[in-house]
Amino acid sequence: MPTGKTYEALRADVEKIPVIDTHEHFRGPDSQEAQKEPIKSVTSGYVHSDIMSAAGEEAAAMLQNGEIPTEKKWPVFQRAWAKMEHTAYARVTKLILKNEYGLEEISLEAMKGLAGRLLNLRDKKAFEAMMDRYGIRCCLANVWLDWKKFLSGEASLHERMRVLIGLPELHAVRTFEGVQRVAGYIGRKVTCLDEYAACLREFCTRMKARGAVGMKDQSAYGRIIAYESGGRAEAEKLFGFIMDDPRRSIGYPAGKPLDDWIFHELMRIARDLELPVQIHTGHMAGIRNDVTKTNAAHFRSVLELHRDVKFDLFHGNWPYAGDWLFLGKNYPNVALDCCWLHVIDPRYARRVLADAVSAVPHSKIHGFGGDYGALEFACGHLVIARDNIAAALAEMVDDGWIGMDEARQVAADWLFNNPNEFFTLGFEPVSV
Ligand SMILES: [Zn+2]
Repeated sequence: MPTGKTYEALRADVEKIPVIDTHEHFRGPDSQEAQKEPIKSVTSGYVHSDIMSAAGEEAAAMLQNGEIPTEKKWPVFQRAWAKMEHTAYARVTKLILKNEYGLEEISLEAMKGLAGRLLNLRDKKAFEAMMDRYGIRCCLANVWLDWKKFLSGEASLHERMRVLIGLPELHAVRTFEGVQRVAGYIGRKVTCLDEYAACLREFCTRMKARGAVGMKDQSAYGRIIAYESGGRAEAEKLFGFIMDDPRRSIGYPAGKPLDDWIFHELMRIARDLELPVQIHTGHMAGIRNDVTKTNAAHFRSVLELHRDVKFDLFHGNWPYAGDWLFLGKNYPNVALDCCWLHVIDPRYARRVLADAVSAVPHSKIHGFGGDYGALEFACGHLVIARDNIAAALAEMVDDGWIGMDEARQVAADWLFNNPNEFFTLGFEPVSV
């Protein structure tokens, strides 16, 4: 924990600033998991990845099995925990235990004592009360829904959530079935690439009318985020290949020209509908993936070509901080988003935010997104995010670069005003 008078004063002020959370994976109370077994409950979310990395996938899977009793899991948990309890993912678990259950020490007795009194965030009142307690005014949600039901009004999100259009399934076209599934969201069938592009435009238009505030893409998990724009003929050929025979499929990287062309088409739709686009860059959830393909630097050509589209580059591009700061500084249509970052690597987050104060216009930073499926984990993350923001700004105040009042206003802009304006959410701006 950082210390010092400047930090202490700023930390207290940052606590009071309301938050627009730019990235979550829950719809509201109805998507919160009803937890029964305490170890499973407190080791879900990203901490699971650190357990896999330190203690192996078998141990991690056992801890996430809700059918195995706490007592039986305990020795496995204890051994795993001893190997990784100092990471920020584990710190979120500790914060949940402390702040939600009053537990400072983890013991078998303490864990067994949680059974029967685990948080029930499926309860709407409890869910909203927790959001209020942590000052979360609104969350942008990257969720998976039956979009046909969503568009017809049969399915919806909690009123504090704002939905995003998930892009990967729209452009990573592999099969005839995949194409028709997307077309089915608006009750159509598709026979050629032009019809598919028209479908995407209509789908996005209807999504915007139903409240979508942007688009979100996490294709970096499966492919390099370099998109070429000139491959219309090749794209058409690949599309025809799967249209001509529903039993065919295209793999990666063979399907990349089609994927790339549709992605650019989606950027034209984003421009016309004035929808900002969130892009996964940097570190990925889980283990054993290739991070080099996710560097935001690969996305440069899209940023330069689609100048009328606003892009929100995620996760601090971890571990490529310099590229991330460059893109935010250099391109007027780019914002830098710290979602997930505060618990991937808190010290990196502090450094990059302190650097950003003097390197990047402060209007271009989005300070927090939880990036969890469960609200209590997002709230634990928010505690660390507030620590990091206060620490980064305190460093710049102590360096004599900015004053205390300026630091407070920057914090309010990072946490609330910038995302409010960027995603045109329409809340009253916060001034401190
Ligand atoms: Zn995410």
